[in-house]
Amino acid sequence: MEPPTAIKRRLNELGIRSRLRAHPRTQGRVLAPAGLLRRLPSTPGLYFPFYHDVPAEYAGDLSRHLRALRRLGPMVSWGEALQVLAGTRALTGPMFCLSFDDGHPTWRDVVAPLLRELAVPATFFLTTGLVGRPGNLTWPDCREIQDAGFSFGSHTISHTRLADQDDVEARREIADSKKEIEDELGTEVRDFAAPYGHPAVDFGERDVRLAEEAGYRSFASTLRPAMHPGDSPMWICRQGLHPAWPIMAVRTRVHD
Ligand SMILES: [Zn+2]
Repeated sequence: MEPPTAIKRRLNELGIRSRLRAHPRTQGRVLAPAGLLRRLPSTPGLYFPFYHDVPAEYAGDLSRHLRALRRLGPMVSWGEALQVLAGTRALTGPMFCLSFDDGHPTWRDVVAPLLRELAVPATFFLTTGLVGRPGNLTWPDCREIQDAGFSFGSHTISHTRLADQDDVEARREIADSKKEIEDELGTEVRDFAAPYGHPAVDFGERDVRLAEEAGYRSFASTLRPAMHPGDSPMWICRQGLHPAWPIMAVRTRVHD
């Protein structure tokens, strides 16, 4: 049976989007004009920009992004950001809390050294099933990153779309990944980021509840709005960026 037109159009868009994702500089140029209508934040709001892989060729670009954001307000750790949401730390203007997803070796080679140099805190959301696989971080790499002062959260075991899993499997992805990181790194893991991250499509209320039951204090989606004191830590909004994007494209994701 032929899929309805709306679905076909959507699939088409997804095809274009995934092709653009494979060419981040082009994607950035395509996004940039929409940035004309936006500006980087200037009013109080907590932002959670996040990235994935940062190949060495993009190290300078990531540095440029972070310097641009830091001119607007402080870069805080995940724990400090949660204090802002809880109202125990002042939201003084735009504030930024950085994270990275999946488990890329460039975290060790590119990201951690750069963040150390800039004195920017970050949390790394790890897909535990990838650790030790070719092209991914190893546990000793993760310990090295942790020893450099960064924190880890869970991004499930297999990077599955939680919404597609039954209760048993979803609980395993959420709880067992936490346990494994804790066993390997010797510290409590309290923060979770859902793969793909869009509510209803990629995860549901059930998964937030399972994360709470597993002992997480925060749950991150990929919804993009700024956050403010009083907002739930079990519904963190993050803005997905690629370091190859010009600042104009960053403005389409991180704005007032
Ligand atoms: Zn991911």
